[in-house]
Amino acid sequence: MQLVLSGDEAVARGALDAGISGAFAYPGTPSTEIMEYVQDNLAAYVAGLPEAERGKIVAQWCSNEKTAYESALGASFAGARAIVSMKHVGLNVAMDPFTNSALVRINGGLVIVVADDPSMHSSQDEQDSRVLADFARVPCFEPSDQQEAYTMIRQAFGYSEQNEVPVLMRLTTRLSHARAMVQTGSPRLPAPKPKSNDPKSWILMPAMARGRWKLLLEKNAAFRRDAEAENTLQLRSTKLGVIACGLGLAYYLENETDWVAANGGASAQHSSKGSQRDGATPGEAPSLLRITRYPIGHDKIRQLAAHVEKLLVIEEGYPFVEREIRGVFGAPVPVMGKLSGEIPLEGELTPESVRLALGLPAHEELPPAGIKVPGRPPQFCQGCPHADSISALQEALAGEADFYVASDIGCYTLSALPPYRAVESCVDMGASIGMARGASCVGQKKAVAVIGDSTFYHSGMTNLLDAVSHKTTLTLLILDNSTTGMTGAQPTISPTSQLPALLQGLGVERDHIHELISLRKYQDENAAVIRSELAYEGVSVIILKRECLEYLKKARKA
Ligand code: SF4
Repeated sequence: MQLVLSGDEAVARGALDAGISGAFAYPGTPSTEIMEYVQDNLAAYVAGLPEAERGKIVAQWCSNEKTAYESALGASFAGARAIVSMKHVGLNVAMDPFTNSALVRINGGLVIVVADDPSMHSSQDEQDSRVLADFARVPCFEPSDQQEAYTMIRQAFGYSEQNEVPVLMRLTTRLSHARAMVQTGSPRLPAPKPKSNDPKSWILMPAMARGRWKLLLEKNAAFRRDAEAENTLQLRSTKLGVIACGLGLAYYLENETDWVAANGGASAQHSSKGSQRDGATPGEAPSLLRITRYPIGHDKIRQLAAHVEKLLVIEEGYPFVEREIRGVFGAPVPVMGKLSGEIPLEGELTPESVRLALGLPAHEELPPAGIKVPGRPPQFCQGCPHADSISALQEALAGEADFYVASDIGCYTLSALPPYRAVESCVDMGASIGMARGASCVGQKKAVAVIGDSTFYHSGMTNLLDAVSHKTTLTLLILDNSTTGMTGAQPTISPTSQLPALLQGLGVERDHIHELISLRKYQDENAAVIRSELAYEGVSVIILKRECLEYLKKARKA
């Protein structure tokens, strides 16, 4: 079947066709659409399977990436194939199970799909998950287009089972979100597997873990050999050798024809992607090593380096391959890339940045159209409940000289911008409560944390427990909009009505838990409650409730 799919959707479809029984995730741009595709298409997908093959498939949003990972790991233990998806900073949250699960004997195939966000379109940093796969010593697959994303995830489940190891698949924003035609294959369910009956390989007590670690290091030689077999080399022009990793291939191919023309070749027909894949010899095009699997082998790199005058490494994220090629003593031929400055160290690759790195002249810029387009800084949706909550907070703090407002990650972080300028820090998921607490501990007056309901469940609760246990003075505002608004209104893990009971369970005194409606008409009353709790020496929590408008739209549509 031919389908038009984004990279995220191709991964989701490939996972379904590979016979997953479980999909687990926490929303985060640019990975959210993987779970959304599975959930939106699950019923129709299952109905389309032959009756004998209609197994149970669960697709669940989880509290955070760590819980999602551990659920997928448990499914693997039980013998089922499972996918867990997240954005790059989500992998930081899941690092503990991720690195440790590299040591266990994976049973049902386990694939972690991580979508990196170079240029930080919707993230607080740039990370390269290939580095974290290397850190955990697990194989990493990196598709270069949507078709490969589909095919590769199917292979990844098999590879995970054959090698009894989790496999990390890395995407980047453009591949996650751009659409292309994808040829899907028939669903192939894995042979049923019983649950693991090998506790020695699943209980990571030191004596057992030592053996597992040794085994993992030994397996890495095989991962490298397998990657070497998959990464393809075409020896062509001796002038230049291009090493294109993942999506870097697409940026290179955009410029290949011009490079051939600029370097004395004539043949534009050699530049088509099809001919690359068929292994045809395209005249004077640069020699090309395509990397889609890690850890990389070194033989093909040596062959390439022996054939060409210089190398150019095109990779998104860190200079991961480039660093490995340079090693301590450098390479036998000049290496160009991020470390030497031909490709910018930060941000996404672009066709133009790769063009310049290839030594081609910049494209002429189009003349400005003469229209003055006003700036459109990000802002709350018109009528957003957070706007009213933040206004109430600002009214409560009016006249105060010494206070600290720590924000968390969500739409409310926009209150850092004009006209509000209401929050002073935003670092990572759950940090608002911890940072307000730390500041309060060392003498900061009127320490306030602002967090959404979804982020509170994600990783705010444990910080609140610390605050309660240590009787720290802080005021927590939970902006409860009943959803994860910023990523497109996915459901929060627990309904709004359960929040007060949960807070009491964590030890917050009932008298200092307030539930308010976040509406402009209640601003003065809400500000008065916040003001009175700012004077309280202890932990107080004010829940400001009103649904996200996007959530309401989605609910009405449903
Ligand atoms: S998506 Fe929802 S929470 Fe986010 S700004 Fe819009 S209304 Fe507010």
